[in-house]
Amino acid sequence: MQKGKIHSIESFGTVDGPGVRFVVFFQGCPMRCLYCHNPDTWEISQAKYELTADEVLERMTRNLPFYKTGGITATGGEPLMQIDFLTELFTKAKSAGIHTCLDTSGITFRSDAATLAKFNTLLEVCDLVMLDIKHMDASGHKALTSKEDTAPKAFARYLSERGVPMRIRYVLVPGYTDGEDDLKSLGEFLSTLDNIEQVEILPYHELGKTKYEALGIPYPLEGVRVPVGADIDRAKRIIGV
Ligand code: SF4
Repeated sequence: MQKGKIHSIESFGTVDGPGVRFVVFFQGCPMRCLYCHNPDTWEISQAKYELTADEVLERMTRNLPFYKTGGITATGGEPLMQIDFLTELFTKAKSAGIHTCLDTSGITFRSDAATLAKFNTLLEVCDLVMLDIKHMDASGHKALTSKEDTAPKAFARYLSERGVPMRIRYVLVPGYTDGEDDLKSLGEFLSTLDNIEQVEILPYHELGKTKYEALGIPYPLEGVRVPVGADIDRAKRIIGV
């Protein structure tokens, strides 16, 4: 039986999808976002737990009534790095009547037939995707995340074509993702997508800083200011949300 490499589990999540969520943090992420507040999830070999889908769900179903208006959320790290395990987890959750939500950057999306088949199977058991859009400019995306922007944007279009409900998240980082042209271009891109339930503009924060210190990694955004409400309002205005 396959096991998922899990970083941690939070049993009372309130910001990772609708209602109260059982939040599973997957270990492993191919991106290296400068603002990442979970650098301890990057290396897949450093998983704290290896659990089967049944073992994960068993922990959740102990308190099932608690999640009546919520459900399960897979986040990380990047859950799509373990798409087979994720699909099994969501398939079993759906059979138990549990709402499923995937929090992802879409970085592993590819349109070859074999990969697409896996994504299609997953999306059949996925009620909601919380999709992070990192940057609208190709070189800005590379500089911010270490990866090309092709897969995340193709995944957004694919979700739109399939009619999968989406919530978009965009992290506002002064000097990196708050340029007027980038925000306008984000608004234009979002206007081409269907099935967007919500757009969240999240202020960059420094809560992950101590994790970088603990891991001995220099903090990449040292000296970058934390956005205030007025910055968020300006961004929303330019994006048109
Ligand atoms: S995609 Fe998420 S987990 Fe991965 S580096 Fe970026 S912020 Fe961190």
